[in-house]
Amino acid sequence: MALNNSPVKLAVLGSTGSIGQQTLDIVRTLPEKFKVISLSAGQNRKLLEEQITEFKPWFVYYQGKPEKLPAGVKFLVPEEISTHPDTDIVVNAISGTAGLNPALAAIRAGKKVALSNKESIVMAGEILIREAKRNKAKILPVDSEPSAIWQCLRGEKQKAKRLIITASGGPFLHYSATKMKTITAAQALKHPSWRMGKKITIDSATLMNKGLEVIEAHWLFDFPFEDIKVVIHPQSIIHSMVEFQDGATKAQLSLPDMRFPIMYALSYPQRLVNPQLPRLDWDTIDKLTFEVPDSKRFPCLKLAIEAGKQGGTYPAVLCGADEIAVEAFLAGRINFTDIFSLVEKALSKHKNTDHPALEEIITAADWAKNLTRKLLVGK
Ligand code: MG
Repeated sequence: MALNNSPVKLAVLGSTGSIGQQTLDIVRTLPEKFKVISLSAGQNRKLLEEQITEFKPWFVYYQGKPEKLPAGVKFLVPEEISTHPDTDIVVNAISGTAGLNPALAAIRAGKKVALSNKESIVMAGEILIREAKRNKAKILPVDSEPSAIWQCLRGEKQKAKRLIITASGGPFLHYSATKMKTITAAQALKHPSWRMGKKITIDSATLMNKGLEVIEAHWLFDFPFEDIKVVIHPQSIIHSMVEFQDGATKAQLSLPDMRFPIMYALSYPQRLVNPQLPRLDWDTIDKLTFEVPDSKRFPCLKLAIEAGKQGGTYPAVLCGADEIAVEAFLAGRINFTDIFSLVEKALSKHKNTDHPALEEIITAADWAKNLTRKLLVGK
């Protein structure tokens, strides 16, 4: 742990993605509070090199051969970065199923893990929560909804009644079923309220993301699926709510900016001031509205929740198939509505394993990816 006022040392995995860049933006604003000691990225070498020059980390990972690193910078693999004894907080902002192994490595090393990668908890929630308890690791959610629930539950001693997760509804909230078939990747990438990476932006447009968040909340907060409700809230001001036994409900509000949940995870149990973050202006907010999600036009929501309820290896198949389907949609190979059909197909063909080991989870996700790739042949 950081002593007295020395900066908290961060390892940022997925540093060139949206959450990675927004984490670095916080460090840039508050250099006396946070120091980046490790950076890791998959694809974007050019941006990573700029980040290395600016933040001067001690350790770096990127895909490909380790070469041409500045003096004093050492190449480590993500698992070594996740578990390094000098790291105070591991920020896991890796996109998709690849985030699981580094998340588990950090948890087994007893680290504080600021977890933005929801696929890891969706696929292996049972293992991650068990290992976190065993190794005294702390999972700090970096996503607006679980962060809101975490904040609402803080200080409460009695088990709450239910969780209410809000969803913006994405750019196609009121599109007709016919019009949904014609949606292009460019349209789907224009999220009305949030600035996020490509995979999660498409998942938000299909409401798959909300289903994944229900599974995530089930594991993180130990609530049965029946006691987790999803409500559409297009303004994205209320980030989620908790209803208590007496009927009172707490909500957490802010403008939609991912730096809020990142800041909360990095500074917990304190609340640090970041002068860059926008404040709510009550003179300009005229209404907060709510709608029931339409499961006919957004079938991914129900599909994901059902996979979560079934448990076992179904959530890994859900994540694996969705990853490939979203890639295919972004590449213009399939329609928006085909994402659901492909994921549903993979789930229907899967033979479930209850209480799977890590290897079985990874095998199930890989099986779903391969099956989905086969289904895409000729498209
Ligand atoms: Mg979210």
